[in-house]
Amino acid sequence: MVEQTDPDCIFCRIVRGEFGTAFVAESDTAVAIRDIQPQAPTHVLVVPRRHLRSLDEVKSEDRQLAGDLLALAAQVARQEGIVESGYRVLTNNGPDAGQTVFHLHFHVLGGRRLSGGLG
Ligand code: 5GP
Ligand code: ZN
Repeated sequence: MVEQTDPDCIFCRIVRGEFGTAFVAESDTAVAIRDIQPQAPTHVLVVPRRHLRSLDEVKSEDRQLAGDLLALAAQVARQEGIVESGYRVLTNNGPDAGQTVFHLHFHVLGGRRLSGGLG
């Protein structure tokens, strides 16, 4: 059984409301928060309430959660008014891919022209 929460994890603590972080949007399974160091005019993180280290821990039995996360990302984009101009949803899996917080999250980026490169 994958742990549901990690007392030392910053995102678990945010999800629990320990720092009073505003949720841009939320669902039964996830919350959306503004990134503390935004890389674009809209930079929101979609974070599952449950502690999963990264996408690598998402298994087939988590397909409902995976769908919820993407649906919440799309909802955030609509709320932020960045659908017309285009936006990007991504997750960094592992340190070599740039992951720095080891609680699964999807970045929702938009509001400016995004670079064409992905690597
Ligand atoms: P990663 O590098 O793991 O893909 O993304 C982690 C993101 O979380 C970074 O963009 C970083 O700015 C953001 N971040 C780190 N700590 C906090 C925090 O305490 N609050 C918020 N809102 N964002 C954070
Ligand atoms: Zn966590």
